[in-house]
Amino acid sequence: MTYASPHRLTPEEEGGPEVDVIVVGAGNAAACAALAAREAGAGKVLMLEAAPEAEAGGNSTYTAGAMRVTYEGIDDLRQLVPDVPDDLVAVTDFGSYGADAFFDDMFRMTQFRTDPELVEILVRQSLPTLRWMREQGVRFQLSFGRQAYKVDGRFRFWGGLACEVWGGGPGLVEMLHAACAKRGIEIRYATPATDLLRDDAGVRGVMVATPEGRKAIRAGSVVLACGGFESNAEMRARYLGPDWDLAKVRGTRFNMGDGIRMALEAGAMPHGHWSGAHAVGWDRDAPAYGDLAVGDNYQKHSYPFGIMVNANGERFVDEGADFRNYTYAKYGREVLRQPGMFAWQVFDAKVLPMLRDEYRIREVTKVTANTLEELAGKLEGVDPARFLQTVRAYNAAVQTSVPFNPAIRDGRGTEGLALPKSNWANTLDQAPFEAYAITCGVTFTFGGVKVSDRGEVMDRAGAAIPGLYSAGEMVGGIFYHNYPGGTGLTSGAVFGKLAGENAGRHALSLQTA
Ligand SMILES: Cc1cc2nc3c(=O)[nH]c(=O)nc-3n(C[C@H](O)[C@H](O)[C@H](O)COP(=O)(O)OP(=O)(O)OC[C@H]3O[C@@H](n4cnc5c(N)ncnc54)[C@H](O)[C@@H]3O)c2cc1C
Repeated sequence: MTYASPHRLTPEEEGGPEVDVIVVGAGNAAACAALAAREAGAGKVLMLEAAPEAEAGGNSTYTAGAMRVTYEGIDDLRQLVPDVPDDLVAVTDFGSYGADAFFDDMFRMTQFRTDPELVEILVRQSLPTLRWMREQGVRFQLSFGRQAYKVDGRFRFWGGLACEVWGGGPGLVEMLHAACAKRGIEIRYATPATDLLRDDAGVRGVMVATPEGRKAIRAGSVVLACGGFESNAEMRARYLGPDWDLAKVRGTRFNMGDGIRMALEAGAMPHGHWSGAHAVGWDRDAPAYGDLAVGDNYQKHSYPFGIMVNANGERFVDEGADFRNYTYAKYGREVLRQPGMFAWQVFDAKVLPMLRDEYRIREVTKVTANTLEELAGKLEGVDPARFLQTVRAYNAAVQTSVPFNPAIRDGRGTEGLALPKSNWANTLDQAPFEAYAITCGVTFTFGGVKVSDRGEVMDRAGAAIPGLYSAGEMVGGIFYHNYPGGTGLTSGAVFGKLAGENAGRHALSLQTA
């Protein structure tokens, strides 16, 4: 990373702002920032999107739209999803997910490193922010499909994640962009910001690349909400480490770390887990970047019900250590560490009906067999003899006396294995057997810039850089090591709204100064 100085305004570029607020990016965080800036009174808000219109919306478009939010019960959820039928409520255990539970998850997942000031905002503002999104035109539904199991006739939500956006990521981006259009916010596509404009008073706009050449756009304030560096192989290798350049990218190809670079060049303080990233088990033959036609379905998240083996035929993680919401984001890194950077997930007939929808797509790398011996010969790249030994040892260790229950941490584990499986252990002994090949798919990077409790980008001396705000993936200090599912969109919305409000106010204060 070079720490060059940002573009200084030339005499021709000097002058008052052309727009009040520029938001760099057009994903969830950016759109929330733009809407909040407008609501705060900024008359002219412009969003700049590096991608062409057909690929706009960043990683937010690739998501399933799951959003982690605090709730004390169905009454809170009804603030987001008012039309849940009473007969469905009667057969569902929604449980509760209060602020304490969200804090506990964030502390536990990040090994107590999450920035206390930022996590306080994230957790406390989650429900008010989703309510505000609803007012802006975003519609939510309850996540019965992916986050609840039906046991003994009742649905039970199991992972603190009861809410998702109607229409998933594409629905979210469509509704947010429609809300922006309604409020007169322009999105300029295929227009990447390349540099910040800066003078002694602070940030004064951005330089953009256009087909006609580079151009300055002056603004009262700038919100950088243009993602992390996950799409950039060079930066992944540099910051995440060896072999991360070879990981597949789950989402957009446009998050190249531009915003982080621009902010650092303007003197921003780096913050958070720069060598950390959210990464999952992802189809071994998936394309290099995400494919919007497939969305997040290259992921393979039913591993808690089976086992995963590497090229040596050995298990390498506790597949049942916790609910998948709390392990999936760190297990991609474990797959990357295996010889050849791949693994096979193996299931038997008992659990096949429970596999998530993503196992039934056309674009899947899968083998089936009627015996374990036959399966061993079909697991490309795996030592068959060692695989069979692993399965025999595993089968013998499963505590079959403990009842299996996917809706709770059932404690049905293994006994006596050096690497245990702690929950949901089932023997692999009923044909047909199925196995799925995965590699590491990187979702987003954790390192970024430090922001204040007003969304201002902080400099290395601890002062806010006037006129510069940030939100979304490029905010550092929130996630370390791991991540509770559904928090990225919530974080983008909470900090996007915060940054947008304050960027709007800053721009207005310049007008009255
Ligand atoms: C497959 C997949 C599934 C996921 N599922 C979920 C989920 O269900 N729930 C959840 O909470 N999170 C999920 N995530 C994570 C989530 O996508 C991110 O945390 C969140 O969307 C980040 O929002 P953002 O606005 O910061 O970034 P993005 O949505 O990536 O937006 C960044 C924007 O900046 C633009 N940009 C980049 N560089 C420039 C530049 N120089 N100039 C102008 N524009 C630029 C990009 O084109 C893009 O529009 C998932 C991610 C993926 C990839």
